[in-house]
Amino acid sequence: MIILEEPQKSLYVNNRLLEKRYLRTDVLGETNETPDDMFRRIANIFSSAEEGQISRNSHVVNHDSYYNLLASLDFLPNSPTLLNAGTENGQLASCYVLPIDDSVNGIGDALKQTMLIHKSGGSTGFNLSSIRPAQDKVGGRDRVAGGPIGLLNLLSVTADYIKQGGVRRGCNTALLNLDHPDIVEFIGAKRDPGRLTNLYTTVSIKDNFMDRVTSGSELPLVNPRNGQTTATVSACDIFDLIVDQAWRTGDPGLTFIDTVNKNNPIPHLGKIEYMSGCGEEALLPFESCILGSINLVNMLKKELDGTFSIDWQHLSQTIPLSVRFLDTAIDLNHYPILQSELISRRTRKIGLGVMGFADMLIRLGVPYNSDKALGIAEAIMSFVQDIAHETSHKLALDRGPFPAYQGSVYEFEGITMRNASVTSIAPTGSISLIAGVSSGIEPLFGTVFVRNMLDGEKLLEVNPFFERVAREQGFFSFALLERLVSKNRLDQIEGVPDSVKKIFVTAHGVSPEWHVKIQAAFQKYTDNAVSKTVNFPREASRDDIAKVFALAYQQSLKGITVYRDQSRSEQPLCTGEEG
Ligand code: UDP
Repeated sequence: MIILEEPQKSLYVNNRLLEKRYLRTDVLGETNETPDDMFRRIANIFSSAEEGQISRNSHVVNHDSYYNLLASLDFLPNSPTLLNAGTENGQLASCYVLPIDDSVNGIGDALKQTMLIHKSGGSTGFNLSSIRPAQDKVGGRDRVAGGPIGLLNLLSVTADYIKQGGVRRGCNTALLNLDHPDIVEFIGAKRDPGRLTNLYTTVSIKDNFMDRVTSGSELPLVNPRNGQTTATVSACDIFDLIVDQAWRTGDPGLTFIDTVNKNNPIPHLGKIEYMSGCGEEALLPFESCILGSINLVNMLKKELDGTFSIDWQHLSQTIPLSVRFLDTAIDLNHYPILQSELISRRTRKIGLGVMGFADMLIRLGVPYNSDKALGIAEAIMSFVQDIAHETSHKLALDRGPFPAYQGSVYEFEGITMRNASVTSIAPTGSISLIAGVSSGIEPLFGTVFVRNMLDGEKLLEVNPFFERVAREQGFFSFALLERLVSKNRLDQIEGVPDSVKKIFVTAHGVSPEWHVKIQAAFQKYTDNAVSKTVNFPREASRDDIAKVFALAYQQSLKGITVYRDQSRSEQPLCTGEEG
């Protein structure tokens, strides 16, 4: 399939994906829903729920407003909402995090909860730091504990066994505090390719660790069972190990846990020690979050001279509707476990973000790796953040603040809020495909690529805007497409004007520093975290990775994930790619 025209609003670019995964089927497995039916199914249940709200100013969003919001592809909620809203399953959230108690009962509970969450279509984040080290004492006997790495394997197998009801492969993130005695094994847990492929690992790093690396001092490792120091290690050696392993396979990533907690709006409920499956949400034990993303390509308008500009008015109308949608989703959600329902309804966190940022920049004629792009990122996200907060505030006046509001930073600041956090940036691996736009805030992966379908079929896809520009400027040819498929680097292909090369810059043509800068520009105006992968060329050195880790810390990112080209035999699985 070659898409020859630029996608129009309300045209379902990826009908194929919707059909294969999202649309409802009859008992024989035949699809018996159209994309339009799907959007109506969702709009119906959300507008009915709004009507049921006890609303003081009786402002409710009607069916058509929600239908138009979704069917125009201006906004899409995360996959579980598309799949399950208005169905028996009814589970709407992507992200759940689970605490694990250091006991057989605790581990058994977590495994069961993992299965229930994955069966319902959610993903899980774990912190393994309370688990005593491998070979530690159990029941007074010496050297029998399985340890966090043994548990990591169990969690991975358990999640894989369920496969999110056959719809997609569930993602997991496992986090370990840096001072755990098994930290070295954890850093190397994904050393062998092909193992733990449904799971990301991330090391929870405190600010004082970064100071220790700078000053070259030691780090004590502490057994969580009894608080005793088991050894001291060189902070630099540990940092080098992390860098080396990230260079080899991409894992582990880093979570800057002090930055996360400095920005925690509800510190009276405890410290945050968990990250969601793809790192976009820092959450309390058992907390969940429903995500949704505004399609930035649809937030552009065409001027009379054919150029594009940002349609701020349309964006200002889309944000409040999207926030209301996500807030209503909290009440509609069928939580797979009671503990999640209790805490999620107390904090009412939602994650409104954006997708199609790179495609938006291209239409604006702005290279991704430019100061102008940074300015646009900040302008867009601060606008989203302001209006999203204002909407949450208005919702609080109407529907009441989130139940854990008292003691929150909002109470301290004198602002009533319906949701403890409102914005976050998701990867949008699948929903960006449905909308036919670049994923999340990532640069283009390529201008032409081959998509592997589940049934083995290969589809050639051309970025529709690239094709239009290439045709308009007279350098379009099938030979060019073939060269792009084999090389995937527009900047290295002759006959393409430099101006086009600059604007259609792809992930590997963007230096890692620019990846971090764009992530930081979005993080500045995002309540929760930003999911992003910093791509490195294959020839990048370990030192390049170390520098980017340090830069990420300096730029106050909450976390960072890197990937060096071809460093895994399988490309990352949680990309929403069909295969
Ligand atoms: N996720 C998952 N399986 C996947 C892709 C994503 O469980 O194949 C989870 C992942 O943990 C992440 C969340 O869904 O926290 C949102 O990811 P993304 O935005 O890519 O999902 P989409 O809504 O586009 O399917």
